[in-house]
Amino acid sequence: VRNPQPQRVIVMLDPGHGGADPGAVGIGGLQEKSVVMAVSQHVATILQQQGGMVQMTRRGDQTVDLQPRVDMAEAANATVFVSIHANAVAGQRPEVNGLETYYYSEAGLQLANILHRRVMGTVAMQDRGVKQARFFVLRRTSMPAALIEIGFVTGSADAPKLRNPTWQGQMGQAIATGILD
Ligand code: ZN
Repeated sequence: VRNPQPQRVIVMLDPGHGGADPGAVGIGGLQEKSVVMAVSQHVATILQQQGGMVQMTRRGDQTVDLQPRVDMAEAANATVFVSIHANAVAGQRPEVNGLETYYYSEAGLQLANILHRRVMGTVAMQDRGVKQARFFVLRRTSMPAALIEIGFVTGSADAPKLRNPTWQGQMGQAIATGILD
């Protein structure tokens, strides 16, 4: 018997860091936690406008540990988990810039590929590829999960973009479209 209920799709968005944890701090004191929150809010708004169910692991500048982020996704029985971060390199290496998308499981690889392709096709930046990593939120979530590093706060090309509200909106739109893909 066919289920008469439409399948309930829930996107769990995970803006990295927050509160006491600024994440990476880059050129001019640019903080990862602020950049990823701004972009995540654009993603959430766009998905909601498209009728999507969205939940976020943090709504503002709050400290949230990694396990509670996973617990929220599991409790919601989220369809996909998308973690949004910004990158940094140690030392004075402003020449390192670009987009990286991470996955752990095979299902996560598919999600990471789709997201990465959409962002690279929309936003002008260097392509550092899709990579596997043992990040906690990727390993411990049971649904397809990807972690997108939207640029380097330490990069001379990326940092001005990351702090630009117009660019943040474009990146948010690209990630939202990737999730819809
Ligand atoms: Zn991070």
